[in-house]
Amino acid sequence: MFDDITQNPELTNRGSQQLQREELAREYTEEPLTQQAVQMNTANGVQCPHCGTINEPEALFCASCGNPIGKSTCPNCGAPVDPDADFCETCRHYIRTDVCSFCGAPLTGQEAFCPECGSPRGGIVCPVCRTLNDFSFCRQCGTPLTEEARQMMEKVREMPEYKEMQRLANEIQQMEMTPPYSSERDVLRDQKNSKLRERVLKLLAEDRGIANLVIPEPRHKRMGQGEYEAQKQERLNRLAEILEQMAQPPQPKPAQVRNYAMACKPQGMRLAWECNFKHALHSSPCGCAKPQMGGKWIILGKNTRQEIKDDI
Ligand SMILES: [Zn+2]
Ligand SMILES: [Zn+2]
Ligand SMILES: [Zn+2]
Ligand SMILES: [Zn+2]
Ligand SMILES: [Zn+2]
Repeated sequence: MFDDITQNPELTNRGSQQLQREELAREYTEEPLTQQAVQMNTANGVQCPHCGTINEPEALFCASCGNPIGKSTCPNCGAPVDPDADFCETCRHYIRTDVCSFCGAPLTGQEAFCPECGSPRGGIVCPVCRTLNDFSFCRQCGTPLTEEARQMMEKVREMPEYKEMQRLANEIQQMEMTPPYSSERDVLRDQKNSKLRERVLKLLAEDRGIANLVIPEPRHKRMGQGEYEAQKQERLNRLAEILEQMAQPPQPKPAQVRNYAMACKPQGMRLAWECNFKHALHSSPCGCAKPQMGGKWIILGKNTRQEIKDDI
C-alpha cells in the first residue's frame, strides 16, 4: 500500500487533503532548490549546516556528508525549517503527513490511524495531564502513550544503567530534602532532637514490652556543608556520566530517538535534552526539529546559566 506514495502520489488524494499534500510535496522536493539559492547562496558556494563544507551554489545535498543543505518552510506557519525536519520549532507542530509521528512508519497521508502502530493521526491526549501529543510519550509529564512506548519503558527500566541512574536521582532528591547544617547551633538542635527521638522510641518500646530496643539510625543523616556538597557532587557526576554513556547516536528515524530518549529519562531531576542538531537545550526531544541527529539528557543545576529554549 505504501507504493501509492512513490508511484502515484496525487491520484489517491482528494479535497483539502490533496491540497495539503501538494503543498508538502512541494516543500520537500522542489522548494528547497529555489529557496536555498536565495537564502544560502554566497559568492563561494553554499556552506553545509552539518559539517561546514562549502558546496556548489546549486547543491541540494552536501558533497561531503550527504545531508540536505537547502531550506524549506513550515506548511503550518511558514517559518523556515530544514527539509529533513519533521517538527516545526516555531509553531510546535508535527509537519509531516507521510510518516507516522509515533512510530516512524510510512503513511499515505489519508489514514485516520497508523496501520503500523494504530495511533490516531490527530494525536493522543495524555490520560494523566490531558496534554495533546503527537509523539509516543507525553512531552509534559513523560507518560508513555502507546503500547510500544510502554514496552520500551519497561525494558529500559530493567537495564542496570537505568536502575543506577534512578537510584542516584532518588538519593540526590533525598539530599535536597535534608539540607546540611548551617551553623553550630543547628548541630546542637539536631542532637537534642535525636535524643528526644531516642527517648520517645524507648518509651514506646517499654509500653509494648520490648526490652532490648535497638534504635535505628535516622534514614537520612544530616551532614555538615562540606560533606554534603562533596556527596551530592559525587552523585551528580556519576549521573552525568551515565547520561553521557546513554547519549544517542544519529538514527534513521526521528521517532526512534524521541521514544528511546523519553524512555531513558530518570524521574525527579531537572534535565534538558541537548540535541546534536543545534546543540539547543530542549525540555525533551519532543521539542526538537531534528532529533534523528542524536542527543543526550543533561542535568540542569540550580546555578546553571543554561536555559531550556522551549520550556512548555
Ligand atoms: Zn556536510
Ligand atoms: Zn510552523
Ligand atoms: Zn505509527
Ligand atoms: Zn502527560
Ligand atoms: Zn534540537
